[in-house]
Amino acid sequence: MENLDVLKEQILETSIYSYNQGLFAGTSGNLSAFDKESKLVVITPTSIRYDKMKADDIVVIDLEGKLVDGKHEPSSEWQMHCEIYKSRNDVFSVFHTHSPYATAFAVNRRPIPLILIEMVPFLGGEVPVAKFALPGTKKMGIEALKVLDRKFGCLLSNHGVLAIGKTIDESHIRAEYVEDAAKIFHYALNGGVVNIISKDIEEQMMK
Ligand SMILES: [Zn+2]
Repeated sequence: MENLDVLKEQILETSIYSYNQGLFAGTSGNLSAFDKESKLVVITPTSIRYDKMKADDIVVIDLEGKLVDGKHEPSSEWQMHCEIYKSRNDVFSVFHTHSPYATAFAVNRRPIPLILIEMVPFLGGEVPVAKFALPGTKKMGIEALKVLDRKFGCLLSNHGVLAIGKTIDESHIRAEYVEDAAKIFHYALNGGVVNIISKDIEEQMMK
């Protein structure tokens, strides 16, 4: 369980940091990590404020959602997290936020086009929009997986943001970049013409 305790601490630290950054508000958003040795998921609990959260509030579940360790219920979005770990053996952390600029585009159901060079390495280019699914369902994960493919983040229709990574730090920075790109896209739209980086430049950058 040593690995799991380390992951709990990292999840706590990153959750509090994200709350202070404005990526998380109240009890919304959730963060998890997958431990490949035990095949268990360490995830934020449901309905606990981030500013009051302690390491022992973080829970451990198996891929079917059974509580293995912890005194709370897992995040209500545990099915979305588990669906991603079951389908992608290259993903070990899932980060879900309702960060405001990106969530506004999720309400518009409008992808964030490739407008900034850092979107290539950090997000795999444009940020796509997953089809609407009811919160708390497995379908949330299924729809997200359809658009994620070679992307590292996507918008969830009328809901928020999903970012994936090999580590907690990686999924966190990707969630940050989705919000950053959304914020800049918002201001660029207000300012006039949005010039999108061409496919040709995107391919040159991917080499
Ligand atoms: Zn949510």
